[in-house]
Amino acid sequence: MNFLEERICKDGIVKPGNVLKVDSFLNHQIDIDLLDMMGKEFKERFSNEKITKILTIEASGIGMACMTARYFGVPVVFAKKSQTVVQDDDKYIADVASYTHKVTNHVFVSKKYICPEDKVLIIDDFMAHGQAALGLIDIVKQAGGSVVGVGIAIEKGFQQGGQILRDRGYKLESIAIVESMDPETGKIEFRKQ
Ligand code: 5GP
Repeated sequence: MNFLEERICKDGIVKPGNVLKVDSFLNHQIDIDLLDMMGKEFKERFSNEKITKILTIEASGIGMACMTARYFGVPVVFAKKSQTVVQDDDKYIADVASYTHKVTNHVFVSKKYICPEDKVLIIDDFMAHGQAALGLIDIVKQAGGSVVGVGIAIEKGFQQGGQILRDRGYKLESIAIVESMDPETGKIEFRKQ
């Protein structure tokens, strides 16, 4: 087991509805040393790529993205969520259905912060159905930039997001891939990588 899989086994809580709670180290209280290890891991996994910017989505991706950005020496941009954004000439906007909150957010990035020359690494905490990652990819495309890859802390491999991204040819690296999890027993199994 790698460092993140170990931590998930120790402190993750499996909830009904295929939700894994990691509030004690990632989503509410944040373990900075763990985030630093994740940043280092992404740097190794994307070491062959030229990256100019890291893009994530508020709120829980921001911490990880910042720690990762230190290793790449590039800025972080985060997509802001709003339920009221109307089309605006200054923003790239995408619709993202929220897995955990069951609402659709319009997420947006100012046109100032992604440009056609950008080679973007997308970072997020979870991959479920892939909506957040696909929304961020859409924003990079609108800007004319290129998506170098997608780095995810925890992919739920039994949901289709990871498959969709890989089928579309994106380099997707997930530090932990949960193959199955049982809310009754709390048992979590990981895909061998
Ligand atoms: P997707 O867009 O891939 O369907 O879902 C990913 C987003 O939903 C992530 O940004 C994350 O915030 C949230 N999410 C999805 N599944 C889980 C989960 O099991 N636990 C937590 N804490 N967040 C999740």
